[in-house]
This record gives sequence, structure tokens and C-alpha cells, in this order.
Amino acid sequence: MAKIRVTIWNEFKHERAEGDFGDYIRSFYPKGLHEALKQNLAADDLEITAVSLDMPEQGLPDELLNNTDVLMWWGHCAHNLVEDSLVDRVQKRVLEGMGLVVMHSGHHSKIFRRMTGTSCSLRWRECGEKERVWTVDLQHPISRGIPESFVVPHTEMYGEPFGLPDDAHVVFMSWYEGGNVFRSGVTLQRGAGKIFYFSPGHETFPIYNQPEVVKVLGNAVRWAAPDLPPQKTSCWHDDSPPETVYSANPLAKVDTTDLHKKA
Ligand code: ZN
Repeated sequence: MAKIRVTIWNEFKHERAEGDFGDYIRSFYPKGLHEALKQNLAADDLEITAVSLDMPEQGLPDELLNNTDVLMWWGHCAHNLVEDSLVDRVQKRVLEGMGLVVMHSGHHSKIFRRMTGTSCSLRWRECGEKERVWTVDLQHPISRGIPESFVVPHTEMYGEPFGLPDDAHVVFMSWYEGGNVFRSGVTLQRGAGKIFYFSPGHETFPIYNQPEVVKVLGNAVRWAAPDLPPQKTSCWHDDSPPETVYSANPLAKVDTTDLHKKA
């Protein structure tokens, strides 16, 4: 079977920060969290590429994007630097069938908000508290092999209300030491593309080195991979209906070609 082509996109800013903060993050993500994830997700059925915002064409030239089955997205402080034209290109690929896995603070990325059509805003707090992730949909392919619940020892709290559309399907739900709850793992379908959002993954804790988290993301990649060739996303003219049209066209003598031309 062909390998699933996974591209991990990371804005790659915090891991390169100067001083104590950057040094601390580099102690567990020496080459960035995208490279750590690439290493941790490595498997025979996956072909993984790690890219970042600072690369040519913001890390996603057409050649790569068009040959990506599942795109993973991590962003935080640089959402506004992502060009709208790139968001357009990613949206088109998702509608065609490319899978999209949005991680942690990617909830506010341009591409996630574009795909949801909602604010994606949430409540947050950073005090290193404990999170317990509950598997809500035990039958979902993404929860295969995941415990009924597991603990992320130290995390940033993301709490409800979370500005998601009503069709967001909850796979994981989190409880935090401070008392908040959050829909921490949700799926969506947009066009032919499957989308998964997963919140654990705050940059100042080595959460992407935690086996349960890696397992969830690995399951998500395999679930989101397209099983059809790219689907049409634009309108097309069809002059050959499957049945004969007998109705007399009242506009037969009028040339309507110009009506369909772009202004
Ligand atoms: Zn965070």
C-alpha cells in the first residue's frame, strides 16, 4: 500500500527564541516541535516531511502541498504572518480531500478559522496545571488504543466556551486541575476533507514526546488520509444531461453567454 504523505507545518518561532525561554524549549525540542513530531510519529506507513514558516513559499510550495495527504498545523504567535494566498491554497486542498490536523494554539490559525467559519476563541490560563483527557467516542478510529483517560502532567489550560461550529464531533474531552473543561479533540468534515483538532501541545512542556499524545496524532493522520482522488471544488458546465430535455427554452433566441462571464 502507498504510504500516507504527511507534512508537518510549524511556525517555528518559540523554539528559536533567544534566552532562557528558548533554551528551555530547545532542551526537549532541539530542532523544533515539527522535527520532534516527525521523529515520534515515524512509521513504515507514513512518509513525513517537516516544514516551517521561514522556508520558501512559507514552507508549502504547490509541489509539496499538492503531494500532501495529511497536513498537520502548529502555529501560535505568527498566525497573521501566514499569507492569505497560502490559506486559499490549503483550503482548496482540504475541500478536495486532503486531511488537516490542527494542533494546540492552531485553533486560532487562519486556516482553522477559515474551515470552521467560527471564532474558534476559547478561555485560557498558563500555570502548569494538570489535564486529564477523557476519550468520549470510544468507537472512533482516532481513539483506537487510547486509554479511557490519561493525564498530561503540566499543560496550558484551554477551556470552554470554545467557538466551534455545531457539527464539531467530540472525540476527546479534557478536565483541568483548576476546574475547567474543554472539547480537546474534535472532528469536522469540510468538502471531501477530514479535519481533526487536538489541543494538548503547549510549547513550554514536552507534550509531543508523551506516548498517548503521539498515538492520538498518529491515529488522526491515518483517519484523515484521503481514500479518493482529489474531488472537484469548482463549478463546471454540463451540456449533456443524462435524460433528454423536451421543454422549449424560452431564451433559445437570446445569447446568454455574457451572463456567465466574470465581471
Ligand atoms: Zn500554548
